[in-house]
Amino acid sequence: MGRTQEKHVDLGRNWHVAIVGSGPAGMYATEALVKRGAQVDVFEHQFAPFGLVRYGVAPDHQKIKKTQVVFQRALNHEAVRLFAGVELGRHISLGELQELYDQVLITVGSAGARSLNIPGEGLENSVSATDLVNWYNGHPDFVGSAPKLDHERAVVVGMGNVAIDVARILLRDAKELAKTDIAQPALDVLRRGNTKEVILLARRGPNQAAFSDKEVRELDALDGIEVVVDGYVSKRKTTKSDFIAGYPRYQPRMQSKRRVVLRFCESPVEIVGDSSVKGLKTERNDLVESAARMRAVGTGKITTVPCGLVVRAIGYHGVPVPDVPYHPDTGTVPNEAGRVLVYPDGPRVPALYVAGWAKRGPTGLIGTNKSCANETVALMEEDLDQVGPYRDPEAIITLLSGRTRVFSKHDWARLNEWELKRGAECDTPRIKVLSAEQAATILDQES
Ligand code: NAP
Repeated sequence: MGRTQEKHVDLGRNWHVAIVGSGPAGMYATEALVKRGAQVDVFEHQFAPFGLVRYGVAPDHQKIKKTQVVFQRALNHEAVRLFAGVELGRHISLGELQELYDQVLITVGSAGARSLNIPGEGLENSVSATDLVNWYNGHPDFVGSAPKLDHERAVVVGMGNVAIDVARILLRDAKELAKTDIAQPALDVLRRGNTKEVILLARRGPNQAAFSDKEVRELDALDGIEVVVDGYVSKRKTTKSDFIAGYPRYQPRMQSKRRVVLRFCESPVEIVGDSSVKGLKTERNDLVESAARMRAVGTGKITTVPCGLVVRAIGYHGVPVPDVPYHPDTGTVPNEAGRVLVYPDGPRVPALYVAGWAKRGPTGLIGTNKSCANETVALMEEDLDQVGPYRDPEAIITLLSGRTRVFSKHDWARLNEWELKRGAECDTPRIKVLSAEQAATILDQES
């Protein structure tokens, strides 16, 4: 693994940084750090890099997945090494990284899902969008977690862009999905699936819908899919309500077209079923203006929507990383502009930093992580006068040997080539490798 010998001007020697997480924030930070002359070792718990771009962005959004090219360029830099297949807290501890590197940057995103905290959430076929998205994107931990898609109707709780992604993937023609890099086992399940209607349930009104209008337009423009509106539609004119009011009203009978129903002012109160989901009880809401935001207030009017799948797309939530400070309410690492604090408003943890969703919570587009990472990296450079004595990060190689199989950037280059080649043979962007074991077999066979 080639390493440049650039000396950082402020440090008088090489500046060594460990980044934990190779998603958008980690890769934008890598790019910014090498520009400033740092040597960067990126640790990633999966065998493949790029986190949310590989496992979160919808497979039919290949244009957004192109950011991977930028991340690959950052990874290719000679001052960068990849240690994939290495999990913080399992294969290496935070203390060990702090021993070896001048600074450690945490960019682990928000891997968990928020909960509705209503009865029935634990039934079969009640799933989080996080898990479902991971499943159709071929995340190694979710390949086997297919939902049953035998019912004609699914309900997605929440009306953000993730909810729109889920509706699109559940309803899109499998022939079209086959042209994407969707995980092959997921494609087989979706192809056999029977979903014809997806209700997106918003607890508030059209003006408060969290999606971007262009995502709904994209959905409505797809062959064989129509968007209709149900429930309350605001009389208060705004660009958003006008846009939504332009869609036809819901007619209860099933139609020949598959459809997405935007249903407003209803909250889920109970998921009903025996062992598996049979329906969702919802409560009608009134909207009440309060100082900070429009609030949904239950009216007591309950309806049951028959359905076979309930997906909660109500936001991601960060999960704790061993030894790294964590705030359970926000699911983030307490920090001040990226400098990690022991607890909110508490003292700093020396030489420990955070960027991306783990820093500011799960909002914003992929590109938002660039400015977020740049802000943290600028502070890391500012703090260079505080770093301790020189430690030799080469010791990482000995430390990890025997603990886990490490996938280097050279390994990833070969796996990437394998995926692209298999994809080209079937006219798709790539055929994804679905587990570390499969990745190891490919590398061992082809070496
Ligand atoms: P989000 O934008 O925060 O939307 C969450 C939705 O869940 C909102 O409609 C929210 O309604 C609702 N919700 C929250 N708690 C609820 C509860 N207890 N009961 C009922 N509804 C509840 O989150 P997201 O969709 O997960 O997206 C995360 C980020 O990724 C966003 O910034 C998004 O733009 C981005 N993203 C972008 C794309 C894209 O550009 N194509 C794709 C995917 C994701 P309230 O407003 O009433 O709270």
